[in-house]
Amino acid sequence: MRKPLIAGNWKMSRRLAEAVTLVETLKPLVAEVTDADVAVCPPFTALAAVGRALAGTRILLGGQDLFWETEGAFTGEVSGPMLRDVGCRVVLVGHSERRQILGESDGTVNRKARAALAHGLVPIVCLGETLFEREQGQTLSVIERQLTGGLEGVQPTADREVILAYEPVWAIGTGRTATPAQANEVHAFIRGWLARAWGDRAMATRVLYGGSVKPDHIKALMEQPDIDGALVGGASLDAAAFAAIVRYRG
Ligand code: PEP
Repeated sequence: MRKPLIAGNWKMSRRLAEAVTLVETLKPLVAEVTDADVAVCPPFTALAAVGRALAGTRILLGGQDLFWETEGAFTGEVSGPMLRDVGCRVVLVGHSERRQILGESDGTVNRKARAALAHGLVPIVCLGETLFEREQGQTLSVIERQLTGGLEGVQPTADREVILAYEPVWAIGTGRTATPAQANEVHAFIRGWLARAWGDRAMATRVLYGGSVKPDHIKALMEQPDIDGALVGGASLDAAAFAAIVRYRG
């Protein structure tokens, strides 16, 4: 019922020519895939060129962040309409690197998620606990706080999708993945929270897993009932590895 989405987060990697080469290499490798949605989120500087390279394909273009205002004196920021101009359909919101390194709070995540929806972008709202929080037994309370603060006043509809990504911070870029059962426990908790907040829309909402996803363990993750796709960092920079993740069904 929920079509999987595999999204690549290129982070601050790939300069212009490299970004175009990466997406041109990826295109034929996933051209036949119809049973999963695919998205790539290059750095801002490569969005327009990657967007042109994606024309006529099913691969969605995504931003890695946006600002909540539309235009004005906000040096260094990029707005929802600007992302739309270059062809973005989705946008990451509240990635843990932005929360941890750039101090984004649940409040800013909320403003960004609302702005994305207001400008016709699908926000992929990222959630996740640190290793310390997990070891303290706080995983579910941290996730609940991030959901409550980040999604306040956010209500998806049939044509205004909101996607969530559970990304345990201790699994991002570390080579350490949550086990499928560990991940699904949190995904099921998120689904329960969404059911209380959003009613029927909860069952239609895609909840992705992220954290060192690689071709050799995507299948086991995707077998879990509440995992609806993956947000992939490092492996998305390798077209063959990313395509293997997209084609996890074989
Ligand atoms: C990410 O950037 O969202 C991510 C999950 O990175 P990695 O796959 O490298 O852990």
